[in-house]
Amino acid sequence: MEERYQKQFREILNKIVDYNPNADLNFLQKAFDFAYEAHKGQIRLSGEPYVVHCLEVANILADLKLDYITISGGLLHDVVEDTKVRLDEIEENFGAELANLVNGLTKIAELRLESREDRQAGNFRKMLLSMSQDLRVILIKFADRLHNMRTIEHLPRKSQVRIARETLEVYAPLAHRFGINTLKSQLEDLSLKALDNNAYREIENKVVLKREEREARLQTVIEPIQKELARLGIKTWVIGRVKHFYSIYHKMKTRNLSFEEILDLTAVRIITLRVEDCYHALGVVHSIFTPLPEKFTDYIASPKQNMYQTLHTKVVGPDGVILEIQIRTRDMDQRAEVGIAAHWHYKEGEAGPDEVGAHANWLRDMVAWQLETTSSTEFMENLKIDLFQDEIYIFTPKGKLITLPRDSTPIDFAFAVHSEIGLHIIGAKVNGKIVALNSALHSGVTVEIITSPNQKPSIDWLKFVITSRARSRIKKYFKDAQFDQSVKLGLEIIDRHLERLHIKKVKDDLEDVALSFGFSTMKSLYAAVGAGDIPAQNVVRKLMPPEADAPPHDNVFVRVMRTLHKGSKGVRVQGFDNLMFDFAKCCNPLPGDKITGFITTGKGITIHRTDCRNIERFLGDPERNIEVEWDVDRDSNFNARIRIIAEDRKRLLLDITEAIYSFDINIAALDMKQSDAMAVGDFILEVHNLTHLVKVIRAVRGLKGVVNVERLDNIGDEDLLVEVSSTSSAKNSVKI
Ligand code: MN
Repeated sequence: MEERYQKQFREILNKIVDYNPNADLNFLQKAFDFAYEAHKGQIRLSGEPYVVHCLEVANILADLKLDYITISGGLLHDVVEDTKVRLDEIEENFGAELANLVNGLTKIAELRLESREDRQAGNFRKMLLSMSQDLRVILIKFADRLHNMRTIEHLPRKSQVRIARETLEVYAPLAHRFGINTLKSQLEDLSLKALDNNAYREIENKVVLKREEREARLQTVIEPIQKELARLGIKTWVIGRVKHFYSIYHKMKTRNLSFEEILDLTAVRIITLRVEDCYHALGVVHSIFTPLPEKFTDYIASPKQNMYQTLHTKVVGPDGVILEIQIRTRDMDQRAEVGIAAHWHYKEGEAGPDEVGAHANWLRDMVAWQLETTSSTEFMENLKIDLFQDEIYIFTPKGKLITLPRDSTPIDFAFAVHSEIGLHIIGAKVNGKIVALNSALHSGVTVEIITSPNQKPSIDWLKFVITSRARSRIKKYFKDAQFDQSVKLGLEIIDRHLERLHIKKVKDDLEDVALSFGFSTMKSLYAAVGAGDIPAQNVVRKLMPPEADAPPHDNVFVRVMRTLHKGSKGVRVQGFDNLMFDFAKCCNPLPGDKITGFITTGKGITIHRTDCRNIERFLGDPERNIEVEWDVDRDSNFNARIRIIAEDRKRLLLDITEAIYSFDINIAALDMKQSDAMAVGDFILEVHNLTHLVKVIRAVRGLKGVVNVERLDNIGDEDLLVEVSSTSSAKNSVKI
């Protein structure tokens, strides 16, 4: 091996030992030797041997003070992708942990897609998936990209543009999301240099030209602060520095300003030893310079989504120019630079917030939801909202700050506070006033969420929620609910078939059948039958004793006819009179609703609304479904359930009941609950027909303070059709 590479590697080892005396140096040496051998003879476009790239990547990771496994991963990151080495050899030599890292990196690299949008979405998806195994994968990928960007001038122009764009659109925002500011600004500056070299040079020159003047001006800010802090005995470091070039460029572009018009080129940063000193220092700054009202943000008490912690304030500087001042502890400063990488640091000092926990949560939400999203465009749109959009800051009633993407709704806020709150939200107040659940929130407001244990998410919420967290939780809720319902239905269908064929149900047999269809549990088999994916006959056929004669065809309808007896009137069934029937509790049909009959063995016919969720699967099934029509007297009554949500106030119930009685409607039952300042009332009303009900709903909606009135049907899963009550003098049936 050439001595200069060995020497370069020793320098990296020294760096590592400095921050982590316990690092396994033999392991690192072995990884380096392995990478050197594997890449032997390979030359980069820069003309350098390939192993230089491996060393540089490891060096960047050592600058982030990462653990020796990650740095070894940096040394070996390209061997499986670019050499003959196989993954199992890595595992054999270095163990599963390192092999996993290399595998994650190889998966990212394998990606080749056609359109730019697809490629970008694909890259993100792959990255999210491999990261979700081990977040260190992305750290190595960042280091890899950073070195590639540093040497990008050796590539053909077309590749330069493609890679620089991808860096700006994918890698830099991700680095920001993980709080790794030092990588983010380097990646952005290098991308700018590749994409718009003239602009980059211009900014660079101007920053250098005005340096002395700028530094002199900064001193007039820094000195008085330093003096006063020293007098109070608070140990701090006060630094003024120029923002990175890309952020200057971005500001010039988006606000259409010239370089000279950008006044806040510099930011002053005060670094303290202890958290309480931050607040002392803030007091000192505000006593020397006039603060801009409402321009103070406490990210220490309420960290940003990417775990960034700092006090931000804006003051009027000595020359009347607005100046941004940031105050944080040394540990916070370190975390603001390296973000999630801090988790793998050799631990010292105060414990920070749970970086990995918070990032892993975000990642889990993203992965869960990206698995459900099939369109690249939709995926990228939503990801961009999550990564690129401006943040807004919302307070809980207790004063906690929650950070959300712009245009978030009360529902996003509720899910950000807690999933349970999101799943049961019925209303929201912004600064004390009730707002619609789909309204966009603005920074600085206090949001109070009103929940009810009976409330469930609405599928409509998906049309306006912004955050991936809310979206994935709502989708999961509906998926789970649907699954449970399918299981119930599937179980019922199979039982019914078995009963009809007089086959005894044996658990072991059913388990075998489930296996034969490729399901690991009976529940999944029931769900598939319930969802209509597998016909019940196919399941039952497998349960039939081989020699048994098929029972004579016995149409359910024929048997229902046999059990007929005089029932109540109210509907007509295919021209028959005197059929036994009952109204389904799940959808409580009213004259005016479209209805259909559903044959229940031994129990007659149950009348459902045609839009009832419980019978969707059976509509058109000649064995169970039967046409029916209304046949009612004008003044017969039917029960209908409604739910009223209103701001609680004096006389509320009185006004509601008066409105109802004015339509000559009897209230059969009512259940009114208070939840914070909201009242939720469930009413059972005796109405003549649908029009009658619609009229009263409209009237109640017009009452003061009423937020919503809706007809309740298919609420909950408890009213599956099989459980519909017996028909003898059913209370829902119509007497004439
Ligand atoms: Mn590489």
